[in-house]
Amino acid sequence: SQDKQVALVTGGNRGIGYELINQLALKGFKVILASRNPEMGHEAAQKLMDSNLDVSFVEMDVDNQESISQAAITVSERYERLDVLINNAGVYLDKKEKLLAMDPDILEKTMATNFFGVYHVIRSFIPLMEKHGYGRIINVSSEYGAMSEMSYPGVGAYKLSKFALNGLTRLVAAEIYGDIKINAVDPGWVSSDMGGPSAPRTPKQAAQSILWLRRLDLKDRTGDSSEVENKSNGNI
Ligand code: NDP
Repeated sequence: SQDKQVALVTGGNRGIGYELINQLALKGFKVILASRNPEMGHEAAQKLMDSNLDVSFVEMDVDNQESISQAAITVSERYERLDVLINNAGVYLDKKEKLLAMDPDILEKTMATNFFGVYHVIRSFIPLMEKHGYGRIINVSSEYGAMSEMSYPGVGAYKLSKFALNGLTRLVAAEIYGDIKINAVDPGWVSSDMGGPSAPRTPKQAAQSILWLRRLDLKDRTGDSSEVENKSNGNI
């Protein structure tokens, strides 16, 4: 029905994003699987629809503002609202170089997706939350974005992008009002294409942690919309 809550997950065609969509749909959300690759996105959405889940596809490349605006128009026309937005799409492009020695394109590309991508997605989609005065935004961050990590060299582009994402989360939290909240979460080390096969946590466990954070918010409707960083020990 039209009353069903609507959730959108970026980078939903594989990894943690795909599992988030699966679990949100099982909880009764109408879920929009956003993917920059229409073929992979359609295929992933179809797989979930084949299990009778309420999932649809929208094309969205978070590196491209035009693509983001177009996706927001599509969602607005299709559903007229958005309740949950999960900024999950991300890249890890670092080689072994230090920040000042690396090809600056790697830093720029990483910031474009992991930081500016999230910024532009929030800007384009928050009106669909403000319209009905409710929204939960979850930014998938990383332990690498913690302040303490800034003292160690290596993985500099990725670390900086997630550090900036945490800062963005806090600043936006201070700007939004009403029953719209924003959080950042660290899913732990997860066995996806990005995390590699030796990671101890499955995408399923990671998605459970991330959605646990959303429930915490729902219980605490009077709390302020501050950033919550969920530690990566998997102790959920
Ligand atoms: P994957 O590499 O498995 O998946 C990344 C997803 O992001 C893919 O769907 C990919 O799409 C999408 N993506 C990348 N760039 C863009 C873009 N410009 N526009 C739209 N989609 C894009 O990674 P994970 O599932 O592991 O990671 C998900 C999130 O979790 C990321 O933000 C990551 O930083 C974070 N994280 C992961 C950890 C881990 O151990 N795996 C640890 C801590 C945080 P495509 O298929 O088209 O490439």
